[in-house]
Amino acid sequence: GRPQQAPSPKATLIQGVKHVIAIASGKGGVGKSTTACNLALALASQGLKIGILDADIYGPSLPKLFGLHGKPRVIQGRTLAPLEGFGVKVMSIGFMVEEETPMIWRGPMVMSAITQMLREVAWGELDVLVVDMPPGTGDAQLTMAQATPLAGAVIVSTPQDLALIDARRGVAMFRKTEVPILGIVENMSYFIAPDTGARYDIFGHGGARREADRLGVPFLGEVPLDMNLRERSDSGQPIVATEPDGPQSRVYQEMARLVW
Ligand code: ADP
Repeated sequence: GRPQQAPSPKATLIQGVKHVIAIASGKGGVGKSTTACNLALALASQGLKIGILDADIYGPSLPKLFGLHGKPRVIQGRTLAPLEGFGVKVMSIGFMVEEETPMIWRGPMVMSAITQMLREVAWGELDVLVVDMPPGTGDAQLTMAQATPLAGAVIVSTPQDLALIDARRGVAMFRKTEVPILGIVENMSYFIAPDTGARYDIFGHGGARREADRLGVPFLGEVPLDMNLRERSDSGQPIVATEPDGPQSRVYQEMARLVW
């Protein structure tokens, strides 16, 4: 547990929200949203009040991960009520934009939607708001990183060199904006064949830990490539909420302890 502090310059500007942490990746498809979802649930299981904001404009996945549908209710003026899944308050660009909306039209609309989701959502009292960032390190990410003071950032990567190069850019981006790096997670770290128990390092192994050491930031854990995790994610039954004592959930629980 982090000690209660008087508001510092880094304190969140969102009313009622104590800390905002960003989950980021240098590229898409590495498991950033899966990590954000399960880390949020692991933090919530420690008794913290948690919200999660899906700012992944190109592929909002929190509605599916949490099994939530529908438009957020407008409660007053422009203020929206977040939906709730497994005890976590959820707001997603996916609740607002139809899946078929062309990206070219999404862009500008989406940036203002993100601002609205940060500022005009009735989050209530939250210990931590977890933000699932858009992938990459371009202008949109920088804007997001600066939109609200961040208590820290978690970088998700696969073990491959290419993903790690992008992860390094992510670390550099947050350092430039003076956001503390809470650590790096290696997702799809290895695979255990369920029938034989043999282990395969499909995308290599250990690259993220080495990168974390090299950059002098904490290493937060290895999440294996796992079919059960993937199936639960796809069916809106996130593994930390539905199989809390399983080996994968324990990795997320440890991650939650390390970042908090
Ligand atoms: P990103 O947010 O980086 O684009 P996602 O979290 O959406 O990535 O993951 C991409 C796909 O990979 C999803 O179908 C997800 O269920 C799957 N996936 C992510 N992590 C794992 C894992 N450790 N094991 C198996 N499948 C995973």
